[in-house]
Amino acid sequence: MRAAVLNGYGELLSITDIARPVPAAGEVLIKVTAAGLCHTDLHLIDGDPAILPGFPAVLGHETAGVVEEIGAGVVSVAVGDAVAVFGAQGCGSCPTCLAGLENMCSVQVLSMNGIGIAGGFAEYMIVPAERHLVPMGELDPVKAAGLTDAGLTPYRAVQRALAHLEPGSTAVAIGLGGLGQFGIQYLNLLSDARIVGLDPDPAKRARALELGADLVLDPTSADFGEATAEHDLAGGCAAVLDFVGNDASLATARSLLAARGMLNIVGLGGGSTELSFFTMPPESVVTTTNWGSAPEMAEVIALAREGRIESTVTVYSLDDAQVAVDDLRAGRVDGRAVIVP
Ligand SMILES: [Zn+2]
Ligand SMILES: [Zn+2]
Repeated sequence: MRAAVLNGYGELLSITDIARPVPAAGEVLIKVTAAGLCHTDLHLIDGDPAILPGFPAVLGHETAGVVEEIGAGVVSVAVGDAVAVFGAQGCGSCPTCLAGLENMCSVQVLSMNGIGIAGGFAEYMIVPAERHLVPMGELDPVKAAGLTDAGLTPYRAVQRALAHLEPGSTAVAIGLGGLGQFGIQYLNLLSDARIVGLDPDPAKRARALELGADLVLDPTSADFGEATAEHDLAGGCAAVLDFVGNDASLATARSLLAARGMLNIVGLGGGSTELSFFTMPPESVVTTTNWGSAPEMAEVIALAREGRIESTVTVYSLDDAQVAVDDLRAGRVDGRAVIVP
C-alpha cells in the first residue's frame, strides 16, 4: 500500500510503498477515505517536541475510513462500515479512561494512530481497538475526518464553558480559523450567550458572522480598546476561548475576562500570562482543553450527521501530502487540509 512516510525530523514526506498491515486480535484494518492534516503534525515533523518513538513514521491522527478487515474477537463493527476514528487513544482501563476520558490517560501516552503508531496518511490503517470507531453513516468522510480533532477539541472547550454562559452573558472566541469556526458554531447551538469573535483576518470575521457570531472585531486594530469599552467587553466576558494561545492573545483574553469567568486556553501558541491574585478577575478560572473524549466525539459526529455543523475543507491527494504540509505552514489552507488517498 502507499503511504506518506516521514523518515526523520525536518524531512519531507515521501510517498512510499509499504506492506499493508494485517489486523491482530481486537484490531481493525480500515481503508482510509480521508485524513485531516493538523498543526500538531507540523510540530511532529519538525521534532518540536521530538516525541515520535521512531522512524519511518506515518502521521495522520484525524482519520475516516471504511472497515476492510477485522481481527479476531471484534464484534461492534463489520466489513464495509463507514467509521470515524477517535484519535486520543488511551489505555482503556485506567480510572481516567474508564471515566470516558481517554484524552487524558497518563498510562498509555504517544501510542495513538498518527502519534506514535501508524496513522491515516496511507491507503490503510490499523486501529488498535474497536472502541475507537464511531459509525458515521452517510456523512461525507472528507468533512468527517477533521471532526475527530479540529471539530472535537472546540466542542469540549465549549461544553466546559457552558456552566458560565447564562442568558445575557458574553462568550468570546479569539482566533477564527478552523477551530474557532467550530467554536462559534457550538456556542451558537448550545448557549444563549452573546457571541463575539476576534480575528485580524476580515474573511475569517465575515465567516464567523455567517456561522452565528453576533459581533466580530479585529483585535489588532487601533480602535480595538475603544470597541471593547463600547460593547461592554472589557472585563465583561463570562467565557473567553483562546484558540490562538500566544502572548498577545492571552493578554487580550485576560483583559476581557469577567469576575467568575472562564479563560480556556485551546490554541498551542505557547504563550503565557501572569497568574496572580491581583492580575486575574475575582474568582475567575483559567484552564486548558486537551482534545476531547470519545463520547464527545460521538456527539460531534451526531451533530454533523444531522447537518447542524459545517466544515470547511481543502482536499489534497496522498501524492500531494507534502504540498498540503507546505500550504498549511504558509497559511494557504482554507479550513482543514484533508488528504484523500
Ligand atoms: Zn490534531
Ligand atoms: Zn488510561
